Amino acid sequence: MSLISQNLQAVHEAIALSAMRYDRNPTEIALLAVSKTFGPEQVVDAWHAGQRAFGENYLQEGVDKIAAVKCLLADQAASEQPVWHFIGPIQSNKTRPIAEHFSWVHSVDREKIASRLSEQRPHELGPLNICLQVNISGENSKSGVHPDEVLALAKQVVQLPNLRLRGLMSVPEASDDEVVQRQAFRRLAELQQQLQLQGFVLDTLSMGMSADMPAAIAEGSTLVRIGSAIFGKRHYAV
Ligand SMILES: *Cc1c(COP(=O)(O)O)cnc(C)c1O
Repeated sequence: MSLISQNLQAVHEAIALSAMRYDRNPTEIALLAVSKTFGPEQVVDAWHAGQRAFGENYLQEGVDKIAAVKCLLADQAASEQPVWHFIGPIQSNKTRPIAEHFSWVHSVDREKIASRLSEQRPHELGPLNICLQVNISGENSKSGVHPDEVLALAKQVVQLPNLRLRGLMSVPEASDDEVVQRQAFRRLAELQQQLQLQGFVLDTLSMGMSADMPAAIAEGSTLVRIGSAIFGKRHYAV
């Protein structure tokens, strides 16, 4: 068994353990394998271990990797092909390749990005799944919409014909303290509930990374984005 498949198994076990501890159904917690900085061979290794959803942060790296993985898995059925999620910062002049190559975008934080993604989404691919990234810890340097502006942005996004709003995403300020981690995730979960009370049908709460996954699951995450716990330490800082 490869190291990546052992790591994946350990992550699935950790998800199940947190789900049990916090009275959640583990089948309601999806695992996104964040493959940034790792190569197509590592993605295929994880694919052979059953992983299908992969997350990328950098556009050119992601687009190149998607093409390379497609070649490596050319003999496999369409229903078994990887599903690619874009989770990195988005420049408004770089939306087209995102709309053309990814199935999900977790990092939409302004109307301009959303409307360009909708315009540029190829029709035959069906709607692009969208999470709004929220700046939940209020750090100046982080991307994400301010919590007070989430409702207005959600109202704009649901008007766009080629997007499908699925929920919210956040990358809270790093903390070793599980109490602090949970406070940030709880704020995101409460924002999601407020949107649902306004009539938005949302099924995805994208929160939790390698270092704060149990806290995210405790607060209702339905999709954890896990990189280093699956693929190992990254060799450049991101
Ligand atoms: C890198 C990254 C992850 C994964 O981080 P790990 O700590 O390696 O699990 C998740 N989400 C986003 C937005 C990232 O940039």
